[in-house]
Amino acid sequence: MEEVGTGLLDRLDAMQRVAASAPGGPLLIVAGPGTGKTRTLTHRIAYLCAELNVFPETCLAITFTRRAAEELRHRLDGLLGPVAEDVTVGTFHSLGLTILRENAEAAGLPPDFRIADDADRTTARAEAGDDEGTYTALLRKQHLVDLDELLTLPVELLRGDRKLVQRYRERWRWIFVDEYQDVDAVQYDLLRLLSPADGNLCAIGDPDQAIYSFRGADVGYFLRFSEDFTDARLVRLNRNYRSSAPILAAAVQAIAPSSLVRGRRLDPARLDPEAPLVGRYPAASVADEADFVVRTIDELVGGLSHRSLDSGRIDGRGSNVSFSDIAVLYRTDAQAAPILDALARANIPVQKRSHDRLRDRPGVSAIARELRHADGLDGGLPARVRLVGQVLADRFATPTLDSTGSVRPEDVRTAVDLLTPLARRCGDDLPLFLSQLATGAEVDALDPRAEAVTLLTLHAAKGLEFPVVFLVGCEDGLLPLRWPGSTPDEDDVAEERRLFFVGLTRAQDRLYVSHAARRTRHGSERDCRPSPFLDVIDPGLFERLGGEEPARPKNRQLRLM
Ligand code: ATP
Ligand code: MG
Repeated sequence: MEEVGTGLLDRLDAMQRVAASAPGGPLLIVAGPGTGKTRTLTHRIAYLCAELNVFPETCLAITFTRRAAEELRHRLDGLLGPVAEDVTVGTFHSLGLTILRENAEAAGLPPDFRIADDADRTTARAEAGDDEGTYTALLRKQHLVDLDELLTLPVELLRGDRKLVQRYRERWRWIFVDEYQDVDAVQYDLLRLLSPADGNLCAIGDPDQAIYSFRGADVGYFLRFSEDFTDARLVRLNRNYRSSAPILAAAVQAIAPSSLVRGRRLDPARLDPEAPLVGRYPAASVADEADFVVRTIDELVGGLSHRSLDSGRIDGRGSNVSFSDIAVLYRTDAQAAPILDALARANIPVQKRSHDRLRDRPGVSAIARELRHADGLDGGLPARVRLVGQVLADRFATPTLDSTGSVRPEDVRTAVDLLTPLARRCGDDLPLFLSQLATGAEVDALDPRAEAVTLLTLHAAKGLEFPVVFLVGCEDGLLPLRWPGSTPDEDDVAEERRLFFVGLTRAQDRLYVSHAARRTRHGSERDCRPSPFLDVIDPGLFERLGGEEPARPKNRQLRLM
């Protein structure tokens, strides 16, 4: 546990300190990428508890993904010690589940209700057709709730019961929401019920990183915070600790045409005059682009023998870069294959992450079902998962007519491996394990310590940082993404530009952007133009790395914000 007291805020800069130590009442922290949002949020909770005698059990911190919740919990433990356990930390879905568990009867649910899995849903859907009222009734008959209902049911319940609202408001007097730019309508409704208009609601986020409107998120809630909450205090964090000055300058210029933050500023905390420019590679083809990535990684990591041991930063070829420092980002999953192939041919270790949900993997549902039915099994959870996996693998090895669809023994074995980390985290708590699976626990394929290059979609890269980033496929049609026959409207393009901004701002020391002159999409090969998003960036911030484009005059003088 860290020293509490004045020391607690010592690790923050002046504006982070203002945000962390602001008095109660509605507080909106508008903070760009790399400005230390998580650091500020955790320090605020710690400060309130340690300095202002706020009881940890009156604090509720909400994030969007389980991964982010775990990170928050971990950092709070470090700052507050054991009392951090009393802070409620969770996702919107887990919050909804808590409220329903505590009020099952009032919500019209049996006490032993559980969350429907995909098989449950498919069966109910097949029987009910388009009739929603029946669909729900079918689920209820089996004591099931749909995932969406984890949010809609608590909202209905609270809307009809002022006393219950009051009880929750007394319990969670301090509410913190990370990534507030990503709330959707029902999450927003839930928050408004839990927090009075003059409540201690602290929302933090960056409207310019709002990239989830396709699944219902609405950045409008962020923008109207001060209309929704009385006398809201606004704090801006502008100091970026992550990226070198040229990378940051390029990112700020890239977002400018669509920025939702009035007077968007990001000041580099890092002012290394030797920082390399943004590398730009105009590739002839997709294969050429993949070769460029491999070649550059080889150059950066290759000179292992002349690695400088005393320099903590990347300062030139072959110095101090390891595979785990490197990420390759792309807009669509389909772009990963040629890069993966090229890396594999060059024997470069790689790990790929997508936004996979565990429960979507073959074999996972079967294991979950079996665990549910085999309540009496002994062992900690990981051992039980292994045991059930063995039983199922044997069962599926001899296919019978009623064996579960297309699940193969090897799927079950892979599923056991995928489920083991989650099982470990849940200890003995089977209901917790099952509810985490149902509420979208993700495949834990990304190991930050793995000695491998990381491949990610731009969406999956949100919140992460890497010393070296390749942003491939910076082409019109991919960034902004366009489907054949569809014309994106202004809002779509703005969101794509924000996605581009998220990508650029993942880089700490070196950033490479590339685009191919020809690419096969939707079955046919076509000519591609570079992304128009590149045009708004000062050419002087790029270093052109070969390729066939006419050379532009190089201007080494940086124009910083
Ligand atoms: P994003 O919007 O991309 O999620 P963020 O605002 O959450 O970014 P963090 O990941 O919390 O940013 O911080 C970015 C980096 O800056 C981290 O490596 C963090 O340790 C560092 N950092 C944040 N605040 C400070 C500070 N006051 N002094 C030194 N380093 C800091
Ligand atoms: Mg973050």
